[in-house]
Amino acid sequence: MRAADISDQLTSVLVTEEQIHDKLAELAARVDSDYEGKELILIGVLKGAVMVMADFARQLQRDITMDWMAVSSYGAGTKSSGVVQIRKDLDTDLHGKHVLIVEDIIDSGLTLSWLLENFASRGAESIEVLALLRKPEAAKVEIDCRYVGFDIPNDFVVGYGLDYAERYRNLRDVAVLAPHVYS
Ligand code: 5GP
Ligand code: MG
Ligand code: MG
Repeated sequence: MRAADISDQLTSVLVTEEQIHDKLAELAARVDSDYEGKELILIGVLKGAVMVMADFARQLQRDITMDWMAVSSYGAGTKSSGVVQIRKDLDTDLHGKHVLIVEDIIDSGLTLSWLLENFASRGAESIEVLALLRKPEAAKVEIDCRYVGFDIPNDFVVGYGLDYAERYRNLRDVAVLAPHVYS
């Protein structure tokens, strides 16, 4: 669905589908060149990163492998609990692998900092992060994110994989959810 289809539930569109696709193409070109000659595994963080992964991976001009991890730190609310729980672990042994974590958004950074430590302890050769969105004002821990799509204000956003209570993931753009929907 498009933002216009549910405009009564949104405050504003922050990033359009076209802007996302252009940015992912740009990031894919950088990743193609940075990982030349290296085996690369993309690890998507379910469920929010599904759309980013699908579009980003197909922009690459090289072969990769892909795995998924499901963690939760949010529940159905809009604030980070800081508690990370593994809901689905990787199927892949990371030992000696070049890992690129693919994320929808870095908010407090708590989930990623936990994941980075977790993956490092599994013996990965290198670990970098690609995040479509980042909220600089919300950072509670510093994350070294090599590939960032867009820095956005500290508002709760939905769309392009991002949910509120499992809804709005299939919105094509990234938009600010109207407060009346969750308050
Ligand atoms: P963290 O606060 O740990 O950086 O964010 C953890 C996860 O919370 C993100 O990967 C994302 O799935 C979810 N999250 C953070 N900010 C938002 C937001 O503005 N909207 C939505 N829908 N999810 C968010
Ligand atoms: Mg996420
Ligand atoms: Mg969520």
